[in-house]
Amino acid sequence: MGRGSEEDKERGHAILRKVKKMTVDASSGDQDKEFYFNRFVYQRLRKEELDNQKIRQLLYDKDNRCHSCKSKFDSIKGVVLHRLDDDKRYIKSNCVLVCKECHPKYHRGKNTSNKG
Ligand SMILES: [Zn+2]
Ligand SMILES: [Zn+2]
Repeated sequence: MGRGSEEDKERGHAILRKVKKMTVDASSGDQDKEFYFNRFVYQRLRKEELDNQKIRQLLYDKDNRCHSCKSKFDSIKGVVLHRLDDDKRYIKSNCVLVCKECHPKYHRGKNTSNKG
């Protein structure tokens, strides 16, 4: 979670540039429209992020132990929300909480990009 590789960061910037260009193109010079599209994208992405945090809290309230090593978390800070099936979204049934130490184990063998 969070820290991607330099390559991932560059990719993220490229995505952002693309979105930015799309909002400019879609508003064809109308700055109010451009503002609207910007905010629309921002709010949707933000909602998704908040939903992820909600899932994290729900799972934490249910069982505040690492899914792998079963050690108890001291606090929700630093707990990693991991998706069991990489191709599926962040929904409760596809997510488990793991500690930072165990998380890399779940991604070993797959490509090493450090995502949820
Ligand atoms: Zn663990
Ligand atoms: Zn993960």
